[in-house]
Amino acid sequence: MSGQNAAESCIFCRIIRGEIPSTKVYENEHVLAFLDINPIAPGHTLVIPKAHCETLVDMPEQAGPHVIAALAKIGKAAMEAAEADGFNCLQNNFAAAGQEVFHSHWHIIPRFEGDGLKHWPHKTRIDAESMLRIAESMSAKLG
Ligand code: AMP
Ligand code: ZN
Repeated sequence: MSGQNAAESCIFCRIIRGEIPSTKVYENEHVLAFLDINPIAPGHTLVIPKAHCETLVDMPEQAGPHVIAALAKIGKAAMEAAEADGFNCLQNNFAAAGQEVFHSHWHIIPRFEGDGLKHWPHKTRIDAESMLRIAESMSAKLG
């Protein structure tokens, strides 16, 4: 779904419009940040562009610098407020990657030394020829 209808029913657009409650931590003209209701760690925050878009792929290019600037600022604040040692900044695109809410968003997750959260395993073996093939295919699409 895209356009006005999508924004009408989108849960994060409804949070932006104040139709449903959220625990806001930061807001400017372009982005909103609020706490995740089901946090991985204290201070787990979602950062969203205010313009509705489903994934990073259809996010308006001009939103990019505003989102990046907000991520840096909010990441630092979340880390300090949670007295954490670091933070992950991650984003899921499309259902296969674990996206559940289709308004593009970034997770800021405070991390603690020895918290036991694991990154993905490096389980795919790839030979040099296959690497070259996929790199060429990507380059061709990128122009
Ligand atoms: P994702 O799997 O990347 O789409 O993540 C969606 C995230 O949104 C999950 O971590 C949810 O806990 C969070 N979430 C869903 N609804 C709300 C809400 N109303 N307020 C705050 N966080 C929410
Ligand atoms: Zn939306």
